[in-house]
Amino acid sequence: MTSFALLNALDTPIWILRAGSSDILFANRTASQLSAGLAITDLRTGALSALPQEQLADYTPALLTREQIVEIWTVQQAGQTLPLRCRLASVKLDDGSDAVLVEGLSSCPLPLSAACPAAEMAATGQAGLSFDQALMQTNSAPMLLIDPADDGRIVNVNQAAMRFYGYSHQEFTRKHTWEINVLGRAILPVMHQISLLPGGHKPLSFVHLLADGSQRDVQTYAGPVTLHGKRLMLCVIHDITEQKQLRAELEQAALKDPLTGLWNRRHLLRQLEHAVLEKQRFGSDFSLILLDADNFKHINDRHGHFTGDEVLVWLAKTLETRVRAVDTVCRWGGEEFVILLPQTSRDNALHLAECLRDTVAGSKSTALPAITISIGVALHQAHESVESLIMRVDSALYQAKTMGRNRVIYAEHA
Ligand code: GH3
Ligand code: MG
Ligand code: MG
Repeated sequence: MTSFALLNALDTPIWILRAGSSDILFANRTASQLSAGLAITDLRTGALSALPQEQLADYTPALLTREQIVEIWTVQQAGQTLPLRCRLASVKLDDGSDAVLVEGLSSCPLPLSAACPAAEMAATGQAGLSFDQALMQTNSAPMLLIDPADDGRIVNVNQAAMRFYGYSHQEFTRKHTWEINVLGRAILPVMHQISLLPGGHKPLSFVHLLADGSQRDVQTYAGPVTLHGKRLMLCVIHDITEQKQLRAELEQAALKDPLTGLWNRRHLLRQLEHAVLEKQRFGSDFSLILLDADNFKHINDRHGHFTGDEVLVWLAKTLETRVRAVDTVCRWGGEEFVILLPQTSRDNALHLAECLRDTVAGSKSTALPAITISIGVALHQAHESVESLIMRVDSALYQAKTMGRNRVIYAEHA
């Protein structure tokens, strides 16, 4: 750790993060000033930020093969919010563990010839084509040619861009980048930073607006190009809307229970960790309910497993409709459910548990076999770990079972 101190002598901002997470291991003096007490997640997702990937962990393979990764972060300088280009690299720490070094790049532009070979090639023209012709004939990906010095005006576009955005060539060349980006004019300082980036980096993610008013998630590769002595930017657009949606759906599915549609144990554990942090920060009390269907084996034995499943779905719905929107109901496993109650005192949690027990026991209108539930209730204690809270609520449930079932027991403090 002592070797990091040397980095304080540098004027360029340097952050060292634990690989695969956003934990800061070290930030040099310049970096600390720019981050102004904000967490890395805030810098990466600020108003002016642009990233190839949302999760830092997703860079791990690329970092290990030394691929060039740059991000634009939102930083604070002299009371102003500014975009900062950052280059990410993998480093090994003294203890052999992997870390990510993030270096804020100075605003010195790179020589054009080394910056973007693809754009250079296009600029000089291949097989006798002018740049404009070469651009127009490249149909596969939408391409925009932008003049950063002219308020981000769109100078030229190819056919694929006209098809994708739904503007004619004439309409397009009257527009500016900030008119097709949801960031609006806030994109201009970001674009300036991008125009100073070297070529060969991973594309950055933005949300673009189409002519019909719809929005698309896009990845934009922007490289500098000189045309008729003018320094322009060539942007190649890749539509990732469906990809992003699919990923979000997969992430969501990984946190849901397929039978009942409730959150699963994994999600609840995350929420619990979050609730503990909230309590440390704001002192807000929270309670936990653990409930288990009584003699459920008999239900299956008597009515069949399929009916048993239906009872569980009914129970899940009953719980969900009885709690507040801020509460999290989860299928903990089998016929056990957990409810996390943020900002809830012991008495309120006990009251809700009693209501739930009563509703389930008194439910006669359903065509399904009647059931009862036993419930453990616990209030999170100061400095208590998630494991300890779960153990306490579990033993309260166990007591409810041994005392005859269909009852609520409060977990006494550790
Ligand atoms: P107790 O009152 O002590 O909780 O008795 P119990 O019979 O509910 O408890 P036990 O743990 O002995 O049995 C739980 C039963 O719940 C057995 C298991 O087959 C059933 N079960 C667990 N998950 C499901 C499920 O997804 N569908 C159905 N139909 N049954 C399930
Ligand atoms: Mg049971
Ligand atoms: Mg059980």
